[in-house]
This record gives sequence, C-alpha cells and structure tokens, in this order.
Amino acid sequence: MINLNDLTFEQLTAQVAEWGYSQFHATQLWHGLYRDLAQSADDLTEIKPSLKEKLAADTTLSTFTTLSDLESQDGDTRKFLLGCSDGQSIETVIMRYTGRRDRPEDTRRYTACISSQAGCAMGCVFCATGQMGFMRHLTPGEIVGQILFVERLLRAQGASLRNIVLMGMGEPLHNYDNTLQAIDILTDQRGLGLGARHITLSTVGLPDGIRRLADENRLVNLAVSLHGATDAERQKLVPPAKRWPLAVLLDACRYYSEQRRRRIFFEWTLIAYENDTAEQAHALGQLLEGMDAHINVIPLNPTDGYGGRPSDPQRVKDFQAVLASYKLPSTVRQRRGIDIAAGCGQLRQRLSQ
Ligand code: SAH
Ligand code: SF4
Repeated sequence: MINLNDLTFEQLTAQVAEWGYSQFHATQLWHGLYRDLAQSADDLTEIKPSLKEKLAADTTLSTFTTLSDLESQDGDTRKFLLGCSDGQSIETVIMRYTGRRDRPEDTRRYTACISSQAGCAMGCVFCATGQMGFMRHLTPGEIVGQILFVERLLRAQGASLRNIVLMGMGEPLHNYDNTLQAIDILTDQRGLGLGARHITLSTVGLPDGIRRLADENRLVNLAVSLHGATDAERQKLVPPAKRWPLAVLLDACRYYSEQRRRRIFFEWTLIAYENDTAEQAHALGQLLEGMDAHINVIPLNPTDGYGGRPSDPQRVKDFQAVLASYKLPSTVRQRRGIDIAAGCGQLRQRLSQ
C-alpha cells in the first residue's frame, strides 16, 4: 500500500504516470489532497473514476484516531494524542497565535507543534519524551498528516494555520530524510503552500544534521537546544553532548550561519540553580558573542522523571541581563498548556494528562 501523503509532488506525478495517467491528473490529485484536504479516496470528487478506483484499491492516506483531545484552561492551547495505524501514538499541539493585537486577523492564526518521532532516542533528562525512550521514526506522511489534521480542524472554525514548530515528540534531525520530505510537501505552492519561513525545526544539536541542513536550499528556521554552555554542564542534561562537544556543535552552527545567512535560535531550558547561574550565563554569552543568535529561554516545565525546578522570574531576568551585556537578544517562551501537559518537553504517549 502506498500512502499518498508520503509522496512529494514529483513522486506523486511519477506514480500516477506509472498507472498510465498524465500530469494533469496528478495535479488534480495533489489539489484534492492538499487544497481540499481529502481524508479518503471518496473525498476525491474531481478525480477520474478509473483512477479513483485504483487509488481506493492500492493507496492509503494518513489518518489518525484521536485518542485524547485536551483543552488548556489558558483557552489558547489544545493537545491531541493521535493513534497511528500500528498502534503507536504521538502528540500534536495547537496554539493560538498571539500576534499583534491591533490586527484582529492575527487572533485567527495558529501555530502547530508537531512530532517527528514516536518517542526520542536522545534522553535529555528533563524531557518526558526523552524519558519514555525511542519507539520509531515517523513517516513523511505521518508528519504531514498532523498538519492536515490541524488544518481541517481550523478550517472548520474559519481559522488557519500560520506557523509550524517541529518541537513536539522526537528529534527531527535524527529522522532527517522524512522530516525534510515532509517540509517539502507542506511548503509546495501547488498544495498547502505553507511558508518555509514560518516553519521552525528544533534540534538537540546534531552537528552532521545541522551541516546537511546548511547545504540545503530550504528557508526554514533553525533552533538549537543548548541548555549548558560548558561541556560538563551540558552533558549532565543532554546525553548527546558526550558524543559532540560544544566546540563541534558551535562549528556546525557557524557553518550554518555562513551558508544560510540566517539567524539561529538557541533554546535554553532554565532550571533553578542548575543552569541559571551567573557563571552559565557568562559562559553562554562568551560562547555565542558575535553570532547572529537569539536565545529562547524556557523556564523548566515539570515532568515525572526529573526533580528540577523552574527558575523564578527574578533569576530569569538576571540571566537575560547577562546575555544582553554580550549583545545577545533573548525572549522568555510563554508558558502554555501546562495543566494539560502540553508544554515543551511534557509530551509523551499516555491517555491521561
Ligand atoms: N528534540 C528537539 C525538539 C523537541 S523538544 C529538541 O530537543 O530541540 C523542544 C524543546 O523543548 C527543546 O528545546 C527542549 O530542550 C525543550 N524541553 C524539553 N523538556 C523540557 C521541559 N521539561 N521544560 C522546558 N523545556 C523543555
Ligand atoms: Fe528528544 Fe528533544 Fe526531548 Fe531531548 S529535548 S529527549 S532531543 S525531544
């Protein structure tokens, strides 16, 4: 069985040609999938009946069973646990975009936080996904399918999806090919046409993947999770840091900046008295000084497997002030959906919260 949502436009065209149909039919099919958001061959009303029969017999589309649907008390965050065809489950979060208040249309735009793997092999100590371990990579169709799921829901409300963050379960650069293929499908102008500049890929910092991405011609944003500014401190929190020291990671980041000429976002989960000290702030300042960098500070969200505490607002401010002294801009990521465990690092496969 071919999952049509796994295929890029070019691959779909080749497949349709193999079945004996022209590019015209492939384009119609693509429109059915990504403009009309078809959920099954039955929804493909414009498609020639003989091709439709073929599709119904030999192909599938990404569909999930909704295992849970939780709405946060903040009113702007909704988390879904989606069941895949093999029984694995993944989490997808929809957040209302808090754009400019003077532009009412902004309140109808949303951000989707999507998963790239079921589980994660990286094992960051404070992350619920890391604590559960690695199940498997998601297919391109499963990554795309999460967006189709969100888009259908938003369309029914007269809203639309604007931003995508690959910050759900999993490490996207560990699933490099499938993730990039999904990005190509999502940004294809003939279909969903989502803006690559509105897609942010967040990585734990795999230097080979960052270099590969630097050589690709995609305009997605890159966010690199640091959490420690010395090897000793980072290794305590992020196991892959033992294999790739900061010097190697930062070299890859500099290469990315040179090739792509884009600002890099660095993420820093702030844990009280662990990595929110003045020493770490200065070490981070020295590490990134002179780079086109922006630091996203995320006060730790609670997870069952880690006992650390988030930094209080004063310590967050102090940390940011040190960064500012190195001319490094930073923002604190708004806490969202903590009551439904939809915050950064709280995603895992389970039916209750
Ligand atoms: N694997 C990728 C993307 C998913 S995690 C990565 O690690 O970047 C998205 C972000 O949430 C990362 O910056 C991660 O470090 C952060 N995060 C993980 N657990 C967290 C927690 N308990 N509290 C706050 N942020 C967390
Ligand atoms: Fe994986 Fe990212 Fe969680 Fe680390 S923080 S375990 S890389 S999902």
